[in-house]
Amino acid sequence: MGRQVSDIRRENLEKLILELYKGPKTRRELREAVGVGASTLSYLLSDLQRMGIIQRKSVIKGRGRPPELVRLLDGAWYTMGIKMGREKISGVLFGATGSILETTSVPIMASMRSNNGYTKALEEVLKKLRNRCPHPLAIGVCSSGVVDSGSHKILYSPVMNVSDLDVSKTVKKAFPNCKLVVMNDVDAVAAYEAFLNPDGDMLFVSYGVGIGMAYIIRGEVFKPSSMVSAFEFAHTLVSDEGECYCGQKGCLEYHASEYAVIKRHFKLQDTFVEFVEAEEERFHNHIEEIRALARESVKSVKKSYYEPLRILARALGNLVVLLRPAKIVIFGEGMVADWMVEMLEKHLKELFSPKMLGNVKVEWKTDMHLWERGASFNALKSSINRIIPFPASTKKK
Ligand SMILES: [Zn+2]
Repeated sequence: MGRQVSDIRRENLEKLILELYKGPKTRRELREAVGVGASTLSYLLSDLQRMGIIQRKSVIKGRGRPPELVRLLDGAWYTMGIKMGREKISGVLFGATGSILETTSVPIMASMRSNNGYTKALEEVLKKLRNRCPHPLAIGVCSSGVVDSGSHKILYSPVMNVSDLDVSKTVKKAFPNCKLVVMNDVDAVAAYEAFLNPDGDMLFVSYGVGIGMAYIIRGEVFKPSSMVSAFEFAHTLVSDEGECYCGQKGCLEYHASEYAVIKRHFKLQDTFVEFVEAEEERFHNHIEEIRALARESVKSVKKSYYEPLRILARALGNLVVLLRPAKIVIFGEGMVADWMVEMLEKHLKELFSPKMLGNVKVEWKTDMHLWERGASFNALKSSINRIIPFPASTKKK
């Protein structure tokens, strides 16, 4: 019986901490979010205060009893978010309120694209972060490709040229006792966004030289089985032509990603394989240029995006017909202007009937450190019980 009570209390404390992670809240908001009465909330808040992780402050607003605002203290804990991609590995140290305390990144050149190269780059990123914070609460690593969260491995990422890369080995060397979460990058961002805005099923699309996708169903990242990431949208087929680096012909990524745009715009002859293998070195300027022109919404560039975005819209629309998500969220390095989102929406409406599309909304996210934030959030979520000392309270009840 007593054990049960302390379990409930612990559960409520975890809920409270996660709610406060969204931002400062009034007592009423907290009561509603956790589903407890006023006196229980008072006990719980006293617990959090004893742990030294919150601050309570009355805000003067007109007459009457001022409402109390509860917020996390930034130094309550620290988490790290690391994103591994083809172009770089970047890491961010976050305070408990989500503040950015340190950022670092190591560019990945073609010669480094291997298990060994990525391991070395990851070591460098970890070292820099450790100098700033030797004892974080948790570390989240997210990566493009197929990731096994159970074994902490990147199983397969042709664009990074890694397979069976054990991330935990490297992280444990630098942080032996730290909780680690390893996830697919789009899954990590999607889980974070679903936590912040838990309304309806969502499709998350990252757009750049690569295309990534995650599907949020009933608040959870969709995984067909085990811990392995799914929704390899980029390699669904949209044509009989176009040799993809994955070995197939006619992949969505070949026809709809920034590669397709750049190829069109600069009239390049290079194959996708050449492009992916040498991108950073030979095509870096093309990528920068197309994004700069897109930001300025130059007419000729819009023309180069037209067909690739139409192909993307067709593939996305098919998923909308099948899955009926409430929202499509699009983000990533290649999404640089409003008009791109508008063009995508226009294509969707031209290609599909309103009956098939339903009320699906397209939303654009632009947070610069969204990848790292997503990774860090998932790490926090999985280690939140470490914040609460056991037993949760010395008081009875
Ligand atoms: Zn492919």
